[in-house]
This record gives sequence, structure tokens and C-alpha cells, in this order.
Amino acid sequence: MHDRELYRQILGVQAPWEVSEVDVDLPGTGVTVHIQHSGSDLACPQCGAACSGYDTRERKWRHLDTCQYKTWLVAQVPRARCPEHGVHQLPVPWAENNSRLTALFEALVIDWLKIGTISEVAERLGLSWSAVSGVQERAVARGLARRTQDFPNAIGIDETAFQRRHQYVTVISSGNRVLHVADDRKRASLDAWYAAQPAEALAGLRTVAMDMWRPFIDSTLAHVPGAAHKIAFDKFHVAMHLGDAVDKVRRAEHKGLLAEGESVLIKSRYLWLQHPDNMTDKTWGRLKALKSANLKTARAWAIKTHAMCLWDYQVRGWARRAWMDWYNWAIRSRLAPVKKVARTIKTHLEGILTAVITGATNARAEGFNTMIQKIKRDARGFRNKERFKAAIYFHLGGLDLYPDAVRK
Ligand SMILES: [Zn+2]
Repeated sequence: MHDRELYRQILGVQAPWEVSEVDVDLPGTGVTVHIQHSGSDLACPQCGAACSGYDTRERKWRHLDTCQYKTWLVAQVPRARCPEHGVHQLPVPWAENNSRLTALFEALVIDWLKIGTISEVAERLGLSWSAVSGVQERAVARGLARRTQDFPNAIGIDETAFQRRHQYVTVISSGNRVLHVADDRKRASLDAWYAAQPAEALAGLRTVAMDMWRPFIDSTLAHVPGAAHKIAFDKFHVAMHLGDAVDKVRRAEHKGLLAEGESVLIKSRYLWLQHPDNMTDKTWGRLKALKSANLKTARAWAIKTHAMCLWDYQVRGWARRAWMDWYNWAIRSRLAPVKKVARTIKTHLEGILTAVITGATNARAEGFNTMIQKIKRDARGFRNKERFKAAIYFHLGGLDLYPDAVRK
């Protein structure tokens, strides 16, 4: 088969476009496929009216490799003059406007980006970092523009730290799908998003899961009708606060014991934070021994572990009674970090009970948090928060990312 005919078929080039020449320069620049337009049937890209040709401009796109050789498309792209809209370059069927990669090549970059970092993909495909980052940003913009308004009846709101420790974004999600990423973790972060949602969508919300965090609570109370009964302080966050309290007790106690020459708590941090169901026999053996050693840390751990057993109630009244019993125990523990969390829990008890009886949760499938961690690692190379946000949408937005030309 003639090489022109081969590439015409591979590329699916159709009239009025045709493959005019194929340059093969191995191992030099690779394969360059020249495509030309017959010059007939020019239409204005804005209104579709028949136009006269104005001139042509040469453009070049990177395409999928031919075997291991880099492959380029080069075309003299006509510009048409419309009486109404002036001079415009014609769109080409193999690439998005303003891209220097063909749509198939962009799709390949998108597929690689799902598993690799921007730097890795750039290196593998012989592209610049900004070319790959540009593909990701265009993919997210396309996906967001195509998104349809199916508003969920349960959402979760969470913060996640970006780069330096005190920079945050607020992530609003439904199950494993990110709906929105806002700057900071302030009331305004959430206010702006709520204000952009249809009133009936917000009225239709049944639960809003979140941490016991004042700005998110205030914003939700201000925008969601009936929010007082919909805000749910989920198990995941309660566990996190209690876990921190246990760790504070352990650190203080370990320091005190070391001063007396006693190192029983050494290297036990992770031990107290693990879920007993996930422990090996050896770990469980050590924990059992420490539990019976009359340690403050063991008491804190027991209080936390008991709180984690109070999430299966169906009836609010029963749940409230059990949580108040727990509170009375925790507040008499003489362990300051535990008492502090117990007070926070009591203040927010109705929202915790809403989480208990509705099962509302922010603990998404394991893949979600793993992916957030991966994005954070990749984000070390990001110069700004917008790129971090784009990566969250790219990986977790459930978006339709591919260029039009390759959508199935
Ligand atoms: Zn026109």
C-alpha cells in the first residue's frame, strides 16, 4: 500500500482534506504527514455560511507514534472570510482548537495522566511539562463544561491541606465524586458554592456530612433549608479527633515515664491508632499487655474505642442516651485532651446523632483518600493552587475528559 493511502486510512482523513505527502526521516525527526485542504466548500466556523478562502496558515500537531517514531501532522489550514464574521481559521477534524497535539494524542496523554504524574508523563512522551499540564487543564475545562446537573441528596464537605501546612482547599463531594473545590476553608469558601446552586437542589439535600468546623456549619445553616437536622458530624472526623487526643495523652505519658527510666510506651504510637480488626496477632498481643498495665494511654484508648461502637443506633433517643453515658465517662477521665474532645462532642451532639441514625459519612471509598494523597505528592511540583484543584477535578470529578473527536 502506498504510504499516503496508508496514513489516509489510519488517520481517517476525509475530503475535503487529503494526505498529500509522507516524509519519513529515520531516525531523525520521525514521520511527518502532510495534509492539505482541497480549498472548496469553505464555511464560516461561526455561522456556517459559505465563504471565500482568504489564505492558509501552516500548523503542526504531534500525533501518536508510528511504531516507536514520533509522528507529526502538518497542514496548510485555510482561513475563510465571512462577510459577517470576518476572517477565521477553519477547525480541523483531528484536533481541538488551539492544541498542538492531535485529539488522539491528547487522549493518550489523558490516559497516562490517570496513573502518572505530569513530570513522568512529560518524560515518557517527550513533551514539555507545560504541554502535559495544558492537556490536563483543557480536559478538566471540557469535563466541567459537559457536566450535567444531577444534584445528589447527600454531600460531604471536607478540607484538605495544600503544600505548606496552613494552606487549604475545601472539597465538596458526593460519594466518590468531587462536585467542587474551593479556596481556603472559610465560610466564604462554601457560601459562594451554595449561592450558585438552585434553591430546590439545596432544599432536596437530606444530609451534609462535615467536621465540627464552625465556618462550614454557619454557611450550611445560612443556605440549606432545615440544615439543623441535616448537618451530620461523621464518624470519620470524630474518630480523627479522638485519635489525636489518645496520641496527646500517649506523648505526655511517654515523656513522663521516660524521665523515670520507664520505656514501656516506646514506639507505640501506631499501635494505639490502629483499628483492632486490622492488627496482627503480635500487635494485638502487645496492645493487650499494655491495656492491662494501668496506663493513662490505655484509658484514653478505651474511651475512644467505646465511642467508635456507638454508631449503629437507629433511634435518636437511644443514641443520645448512649452518647451521654459515654460523655459522662470521658469527662471524668482526668485526661485533659480527652475531656476537651468530649466537650466538643457534647456541643455538637445533635449533628453526631444525625450522622449515627442516617449513616451519613465523609469516609469515602478507600481509593478516594489514596488518590487525594497521590495528588498531594504530585502537587509538590505545582506552582499554584489552581493546578492542585485541576488535578482533584481530573482524578475525582467523574468528568468526561476526552476531546470531542475521540469521544465514543
Ligand atoms: Zn459567519
